[in-house]
Amino acid sequence: MLVLVINSGSSSLKYQVRDTANGELLAKGIIDRIGEDAVPDHGAALEELSRRLPDVLGGRSIDAVGHRVVHGGERFSEPVLVNNEIVRSIERLSPLAPLHNPASARGIRAVHDKWPKIPQVAVFDTAFHRTLPEQAWRYALPNSLYRRYGIRRYGFHGTSYGYVAPAAARFLGIEPGEFDAVIAHLGNGASVAAIQGGRSIDTSMGFTPLEGLVMGTRSGDVDPSILVFLLREGYDADTLDDLLNRESGLLALGAASDMRTLVEAAAGGDEAATLALNVASYRLAKYIGAYHVAVGGAQALVFTAGIGENAWEFRELTVNRLGALGITLDPEANRKRGSEARLISTADSAIPVLVVPTDEEEAIAEATAETVARDFAAPAGAAGS
Ligand code: ADP
Repeated sequence: MLVLVINSGSSSLKYQVRDTANGELLAKGIIDRIGEDAVPDHGAALEELSRRLPDVLGGRSIDAVGHRVVHGGERFSEPVLVNNEIVRSIERLSPLAPLHNPASARGIRAVHDKWPKIPQVAVFDTAFHRTLPEQAWRYALPNSLYRRYGIRRYGFHGTSYGYVAPAAARFLGIEPGEFDAVIAHLGNGASVAAIQGGRSIDTSMGFTPLEGLVMGTRSGDVDPSILVFLLREGYDADTLDDLLNRESGLLALGAASDMRTLVEAAAGGDEAATLALNVASYRLAKYIGAYHVAVGGAQALVFTAGIGENAWEFRELTVNRLGALGITLDPEANRKRGSEARLISTADSAIPVLVVPTDEEEAIAEATAETVARDFAAPAGAAGS
């Protein structure tokens, strides 16, 4: 099946065309500056995309479109075939993801307007974490906040965890449904997930993708009273939002949000960069220890995404803090580059440490093909009734 994978942001539309029969990537690109003169809206972005497609399709046509949707709230625990009611539901979840969900809905509507007959599937970043037990998703706040605003832990990067967890299990020869692990998805946004029996039982991102680890420009965990203090000092909601999401994290500590820049600077003796790496790896190591306990003893520790797959220095800093768990890195194996799943711990490490590349677009393409094959051909009126 030829699947067009779309990740629509408020000002950009990233796309890939994939053949799920053989995993082939036929095209990949981005249309940005949506909202400016040349590309006034998502419809215009889609017109531009449809001009680019014939060259790469070689006479074939798109069978289905899969959308990355950030927030599925409490409703969506798996990918769904999109209809009007589903788009409205994605829009209704906008208060929980004000930048992302409206853009996804616009992308879906633009595709529907352009190609009304093509089936569309929404794949949610939160869905994989719908298995979190209440002890993990509850905040110790009055229940009225949960009822009125849906304030609870949702978790993100679910598409990535849902792809990496079974891949890591298969690499180790373990049945994916029996796999207990701690997985660290470390990109510009970063989180950790506790996997038990192949399912997510805890994760570091919460109500929004801000909680947890130190990220490129996001603070991760802070004492919430800091925000109250700053409000009293005259900060308002927008300045706090900018502060925590765009001016904090590695950028605030080390004057760069990009891991490559920081690693180089630290190697050259830059103290701020060294501090940034220490704060981030220390926080991550604490989460790994906590989630090792949460899953009742992980069978593996897994690194994935841009930093997790590539920054051996950061993996080393992190795993060297895990001595109390008996986890030891093989420094040479850790330094080797590669695009395949690989083992980077010593033979006598208490549990194996793996690098397993993630591929969210491939995961979305596969989920889209499966959902369409299962649900699209259903006779009218039969599905969902
Ligand atoms: P996202 O998808 O969240 O935007 P990515 O998963 O692409 O992010 O990860 C981006 C991060 O990965 C950046 O901090 C970048 O510096 C880091 N990264 C990418 N390649 C390398 C590399 N070769 N060495 C070290 N860090 C890398």
